[in-house]
Amino acid sequence: MDEWDPATVEVARRVAELVHQRRPDVIVDHIGSSAVPGLPGKNVVDLGIDVAQDDVPGVTALLEDLGFERTTGPRAFPPTRPLLDGAMDVDGRVYRIHAHVHPRGNRAFPDEHARDLAFRDALRADPALREEYAARKRAIQAGGVTSTMRYSLAKTEWIRGALARLGIADAPFLAPATIGILGGGQLGRMLGLAAREQGYRIAVLDPDPACPAAAVADRVVVGRYDNVEAARELGAGADVVTVELEHVGFDVMGALDAELPVRPGVYGVFVTGNRLEERRFLESEGAAVAPWREVHDEAELAMAAIELGLPLRLKAATGGYDGRSQIRIEEPSEVRGAFGRMGRPACEALLAERELAFEAELSVVCSRGVDGRATTFPVARNVHDAGILVESVAPAAIPGATASRAAALATQLAEALDMVGTLTIELFLMADGSLVVNELAPRVHNSGHWTIEGITTSQFEQHVRAICGLPLGSVEPRAGGMATVNILGTGVDREARPTGLAAALSMPDIHLHLYDKRRVFERRKMGHVTALAATPDEALARARAAAREIGWET
Ligand code: ADP
Ligand code: MG
Repeated sequence: MDEWDPATVEVARRVAELVHQRRPDVIVDHIGSSAVPGLPGKNVVDLGIDVAQDDVPGVTALLEDLGFERTTGPRAFPPTRPLLDGAMDVDGRVYRIHAHVHPRGNRAFPDEHARDLAFRDALRADPALREEYAARKRAIQAGGVTSTMRYSLAKTEWIRGALARLGIADAPFLAPATIGILGGGQLGRMLGLAAREQGYRIAVLDPDPACPAAAVADRVVVGRYDNVEAARELGAGADVVTVELEHVGFDVMGALDAELPVRPGVYGVFVTGNRLEERRFLESEGAAVAPWREVHDEAELAMAAIELGLPLRLKAATGGYDGRSQIRIEEPSEVRGAFGRMGRPACEALLAERELAFEAELSVVCSRGVDGRATTFPVARNVHDAGILVESVAPAAIPGATASRAAALATQLAEALDMVGTLTIELFLMADGSLVVNELAPRVHNSGHWTIEGITTSQFEQHVRAICGLPLGSVEPRAGGMATVNILGTGVDREARPTGLAAALSMPDIHLHLYDKRRVFERRKMGHVTALAATPDEALARARAAAREIGWET
């Protein structure tokens, strides 16, 4: 960190002049720490450019013409609010420049430009505020935060608090605001139930008008998850939009982001919605993953089989869930025809990764608020059957240090994706006690259903609080052990009529959840049973016994 450098003012002035020569109407303001004499920082010159929404592409092109480059990452994603990176030499010293293009009248960030100016002016005017910020910056640096991104994230919390004190923070969405949910499955249904308790209204986008969330929605927009028009219709009647699945078209996310707050954020959904992007992101964060390769054809897969060793898992980059869109390759002979067996086009990029002999599967659900504060629920131990979750028990019987590592990793990843909402991480616990990340989900998760009864604030309520900009609730457990057992469908596709419900409910301390899916078929997630008890094992035994009673009329 450097002391404030007056040359940064000169850099800002020169860039503004270059822009004005081409577009006299465009306003370029010097914002950020370098615009406040006396504040230490990295002397990156931040510029705020206030432009009409439909002028964003034009101004972005002008900046690119001046030598700026578009950046990627959570704060520059998608291109509706671009962040451009540039540099300028002043008296032999090179200054980095960040040009933030602020679309005026954007519902998601309505007063971003005005707020940046107000914050800058408050810092210029108030020596005490300036000193507090400087002290905070020095403390973060002394704490060993080195990378630029983690540095800026670590500042976020202080800045948000300061904005609140100055009265220029974003207001929370309070009931009866409308929450839009992309996806109307059981997760959307349980989110809707939690939101309704607090007086929120619900709009849902789903291809099926009779989807599980329809029963708790004020409005169902019928459409596919890649239908931009349908998404716009959802957004038009909502105050904030969230997702219950990560397989949402990028165009849909971008269109919504231009209109209203999309939480957990477009970047997080983009990264977690593509297994290859996800692997690259995890590695860049220093998280362990199974050895993997990106493969485009059988020759590359054969090479991967040699380099990684067998058995392998071959997974589609997008669209897979509950063990679908992936196959297992045990023998070299199975490489031939593998792309065809996946039902995927010959040259599509797939993920090939080594199958790991793990001790257990774990997961952590992390909720993160707009102020950057995060909570994690107790670590769950999960059992899958052919890729589909069967049971989830918490707290997992693992050493406290392992649980802390899992929670810290979830928090780190949620922060790095700049998420507002929920991030679930699925982990493999290896024999040596190490943790390998299997998968991320930018949403509430099946392995967190026991939080409904088992934790003071459930994952669903916590998500609603987070996306609405409210304080997060307590994550204290209500019992020594919590367990959820899924109720899966059996048999051929037919109308769904459950059996054995009374028998299941005759057991003590059982909580039954059915998702009211109209049709049942083999292995479809139809509902779940949660039990609380003094110990995790006892809770699991009870939930299993109750779930065993439930079946489906043939
Ligand atoms: P999905 O999106 O369907 O949940 P996952 O990648 O999480 O896809 O795979 C589903 C399950 O398959 C995992 O929970 C795990 O049980 C098993 N699995 C997936 N990848 C591996 C692997 N590399 N090694 C061992 N088991 C795996
Ligand atoms: Mg999974």
